[in-house]
Amino acid sequence: MRKNDTRLEQAPNVTPEQLRAIRAEYGQSLAQFGVTLRRTLKPNVGTGFSREYVRQLEVGKKPITGKLARAALILGAMIDGVDEVWARARPVEVLAMNDIAGALVTGEARRCALAGCRIEFVPNSPSQKYHARACRSEDYKRKKERKR
Ligand SMILES: [Zn+2]
Repeated sequence: MRKNDTRLEQAPNVTPEQLRAIRAEYGQSLAQFGVTLRRTLKPNVGTGFSREYVRQLEVGKKPITGKLARAALILGAMIDGVDEVWARARPVEVLAMNDIAGALVTGEARRCALAGCRIEFVPNSPSQKYHARACRSEDYKRKKERKR
């Protein structure tokens, strides 16, 4: 379940100067860094942010959003020698049914597929659509009733 307070997580702050310094450490052009930044957020994305957009971020003409700041901090941590997996990981509060204390959770949370169920969960397999058997059963029951 995603509670409102998890959305209030303090957005990291990165200044235009810090962004310029990170790009300088990577020795990349504006266009190259646009790709690096975007792929840090979405690894399989084909195109990057435009060189003009990155330039505007670096001179403070465009705001460095929370997501961009997070990407910059990941890249910054990697400059400091932090492994990418741990650079990407961040502490979050979770509700767990099993003992996952200290574990790296690599899956992404998704909303239960049953209409009206507001539970968000990290699936055990990519095909898991419901957070619990009861929700799967209820959804099948509803679909069956609709067909009548
Ligand atoms: Zn559910």
